[in-house]
Amino acid sequence: MAAGALQSVALIGVGLIGGSWVLALREAGLIGGTVTGCGRSPENLEVARQCGIIDHATTDPQRAVRGAELVVLAVPLGAVRGALEAIRDDLADDAIVTDVGSAKRCVVDDARLVLGDAAVRFVPGHPIAGNEKSGAAAAFPELFRNRRVILTPDADTDKAAAARVTALWESVGASVATMTAAHHDEVLAATSHLPHMLAYSLVDTLSRWSDRDEIFAYAAGGFRDFTRIAPSDPEMWRDICLANREALMEAMERYMADLQELREAVRTGDAERLEAVFSHAKATRDRFVAMLES
Ligand code: NAP
Repeated sequence: MAAGALQSVALIGVGLIGGSWVLALREAGLIGGTVTGCGRSPENLEVARQCGIIDHATTDPQRAVRGAELVVLAVPLGAVRGALEAIRDDLADDAIVTDVGSAKRCVVDDARLVLGDAAVRFVPGHPIAGNEKSGAAAAFPELFRNRRVILTPDADTDKAAAARVTALWESVGASVATMTAAHHDEVLAATSHLPHMLAYSLVDTLSRWSDRDEIFAYAAGGFRDFTRIAPSDPEMWRDICLANREALMEAMERYMADLQELREAVRTGDAERLEAVFSHAKATRDRFVAMLES
């Protein structure tokens, strides 16, 4: 067991992200005591117990956080505020609270509003890792290895709490960056939320065309690659859209304007423009992949 291992952890929302982080912390020897998992479904909690994610299970968030030195909120964004309200009065005085939500401004606002003075020990976080699966059964400890985690503490955030959460993420192989919640939301709207909108809407649109059976029968690897994220959890993505509405709208509008331009190039037979867009996109994608592989 590593020095300074956690003695008591509460995990509110035992799914892919929260479950994977706990498994990774266990592997790193950073959990020396017990983890209490809290969720709505006893079946999922039992899976989490059998997978070795949690030691104790409860459907009562207040019970889960009593005496916990670290509280991890890993529920869908729409449930964060309710979870904060449920745990507020039972948090230990020195408990560090953190989250993994995919949008940050709304979470920071909720934490300030609900936790009051205790919000200084709330360290907002977002691991840039995941996949289209959900629930405790989908969790695996390598999920965050060589991936990025963004933390969005502000000037009031307790420095020791932020340093502890940073160290916990680094111990599972992630590299941690810090930025404001507003900047996080703009960046993620472009790199993650907009691509999900494109994948969802492409599949939804084609599925409603009358010749959809033929379309899907002839769809090949490119369609499969492009739409890999379309089976992502609809409830989670509904919440992300609502939570990051402003930044996502801006990204969608910019994208729609460019798509209109591309449509115009197709309509007018503007071969030069088409080739220029595709060449620029190809070079950018090649650089991005080279950067990932370096
Ligand atoms: P998940 O696998 O579905 O896990 C979420 C867990 O929260 C579920 O097991 C669910 O268990 C519980 N839950 C759902 N609604 C709840 C509610 N109203 N109250 C209490 N518990 C509730 O989802 P996830 O992928 O781990 O996502 C969790 C968070 O991570 C989200 O905020 C998401 O934005 C963020 N995130 C996701 C990804 C990704 O790629 N998946 C990546 C980075 C960040 P019960 O049904 O038993 O309650």
